Amino acid sequence: MPLILMVGLPSSGKTTRAREIQKFFTEQQHREVILISDNEIMSNMNIEKNVLYLEMKKEKDLRSKLHSDALKSLTKENVVILDSGNFIKGFRYELYCSSKSLSTPKCLVVCDISPEKAWELNENRTDQEKYVRKTFNDLVMRYEEPNHSNRWDSPLINLQLDDTLPAEEIRKAIFEVAAPVPNQSTINAPL
Ligand code: ADP
Ligand code: MG
Repeated sequence: MPLILMVGLPSSGKTTRAREIQKFFTEQQHREVILISDNEIMSNMNIEKNVLYLEMKKEKDLRSKLHSDALKSLTKENVVILDSGNFIKGFRYELYCSSKSLSTPKCLVVCDISPEKAWELNENRTDQEKYVRKTFNDLVMRYEEPNHSNRWDSPLINLQLDDTLPAEEIRKAIFEVAAPVPNQSTINAPL
């Protein structure tokens, strides 16, 4: 039922954290976890991330697929983790509206590191996994930082690189909140 949205710069540790969260809910909470990964979708689309993020149409296709896979996967008991940058405010708003219409709680897990540190992590990746400078810079420039005072970005859990996973905080954020009521007004939509 609940949806966890990973958010962060390229090479900020999103996939690593998503797997940690998956492990926690599977092994310690005995929940079914569905991990929807941008890497897997891109591989099915037969396109490499350094190409996709420089082609608006392809990037839009990726977001549509992430969105539809997330909606398809939401059930009453499972946990769905959307492992992608989710850096566009409008996309997060759309997911907020969708999860609300299904009365499904959601939370953001933000991998909060500087572009310099993210680049450093990127440099240590294998050639196949690396972002090239052009794609990396483009994604950094287009990153729309979440803000917890926006309803669609709330609740938001911020993670620094060395933080121990605040697993309990994440569990509470999605399992101990009242489910949102559908069809409430959706004022203050992002521009
Ligand atoms: P993203 O999914 O945001 O692109 P990844 O989780 O794939 O990021 O991580 C990018 C690189 O950084 C990988 O090589 C990964 O091993 C490394 N990394 C991830 N988290 C940490 C961490 N907490 N400390 C050190 N290195 C990390
Ligand atoms: Mg990743």
